[in-house]
Amino acid sequence: MVEQSDVTKEKEEVEMLQEKQVFNELFQQIRKKKEGEEIDSIWYAVYQYFLEKEEWKQTLQNSMKALEYTNIPAPIEKDMIHRLYGDTLKTSISRLEKYSACPFSFYLQYGLKLSTKTKLKVERINTGTFMHDVIDTFFERIAEKQIPLKELSLEDMQAEIEKIVEEKLSIPRNYLFTSTPKYKVLVNRLKKVLLQSIYYIVQSLVESDFTILGNEIEFKQGSKYKPMVLTTEEGQKIEITGKIDRMDIAKTEKGDYIRIIDYKSSVKDLDVNEVVAGLRLQLLTYLEEACKIEEKNPAGVLYFNLIEPVLKTSRNSTKEEIEKEIRKRFKMKGLILADVEVIKKMDTTLQTGASDKIPAYLDKEGNISMGKSSCVTKEQFEYLQQYTNKLIQKIAKEMLKGNITLMPYYKLKDKTTACQYCEYKSICQFNKAGCKNAYRYIPYWDKQVVLENIKEKLGGNK
Ligand code: SF4
Repeated sequence: MVEQSDVTKEKEEVEMLQEKQVFNELFQQIRKKKEGEEIDSIWYAVYQYFLEKEEWKQTLQNSMKALEYTNIPAPIEKDMIHRLYGDTLKTSISRLEKYSACPFSFYLQYGLKLSTKTKLKVERINTGTFMHDVIDTFFERIAEKQIPLKELSLEDMQAEIEKIVEEKLSIPRNYLFTSTPKYKVLVNRLKKVLLQSIYYIVQSLVESDFTILGNEIEFKQGSKYKPMVLTTEEGQKIEITGKIDRMDIAKTEKGDYIRIIDYKSSVKDLDVNEVVAGLRLQLLTYLEEACKIEEKNPAGVLYFNLIEPVLKTSRNSTKEEIEKEIRKRFKMKGLILADVEVIKKMDTTLQTGASDKIPAYLDKEGNISMGKSSCVTKEQFEYLQQYTNKLIQKIAKEMLKGNITLMPYYKLKDKTTACQYCEYKSICQFNKAGCKNAYRYIPYWDKQVVLENIKEKLGGNK
């Protein structure tokens, strides 16, 4: 056996490393050439060098193949589009939002119906649906029994929730909950979260002049709230069905006002940048539709957090301080009408300062502080709604054209993308193996700037 000196070994390693660096640079140069750029003639010789070297030949050939590969999906053929959508595109706002997030992932999920295997475990989605169901039933029962909300004690709420949860758990579709040993712990936790959430929902209603107009309202054929029907400029019909968690109403001297409430397991502000990008159309669209049907004015769209709040309090915190902290976590987020009278109808305890129920702040004179509130004027509301309508048509038009481009969003605000939790990563190969894909960047502009842009785009016409 011939021993190799350390010096020779080192020299070989250095050479190998240098070759690797040159090879990588060669690859970049070949890419430039493919894109039409001129490259130095030395790289042709370098290419020949690697091609003739036995240990590099295969790597070079594989790399060349990778350069040829493209994962850019071609649009769907016309007859396939018709088979997928029929004469009328029947869809929901959440699906249009999904399409806006990434058309290709939408196509894989709803066009090809590719989905990962359902795992027999209690996932967020199950608990979310279950909680929505319990809350809906809770308010139905209280309304049937004609119990005024302000007379409901915490004990009454707990007893009713216990009853509803146990009833719902005996329904076969909820057996999934009982199929895990963690069941008891989970159910007890769910009951606790439900009690806390319902308590704050009741509080937000008791301390307001808004009353529930309906829970779990569906926009569908045969219901009071019909599906929305839009027609594109090309004459194609779009039928949009959907459901809202709750709709409230309040009377004022100027007329009646409606607000839409959505129960969510993670609440974020309603960022108008995301509305413009087609990612948050749901609540604004339903509010507009509900206002049209009921012939009322829009008061706002709000998200209510269904969570078990994690508190940052000190050991010396008083009961009142802890209660105040919990309350803050249940403060609703969203977009409301910049109208002091309507705001005070939403929070009857608010005089000045920040409301602990809605995203509103009144200064010392009792005027709305726009910088500290999430408010829009009546005119801005109308522009926003008109814009979302146009956007829905635009998104539907792209779907009907068969556009399934690979273009996930990228939010500059928090650097999140549509790919983060996407189950189709391995299929689409986004930005992998030398593929040239691009994100659709979502800017983070100030609300007023976005609203001005919308107004301009609409030509200043309502
Ligand atoms: S991983 Fe990203 S690019 Fe690929 S389908 Fe999903 S969202 Fe679209």
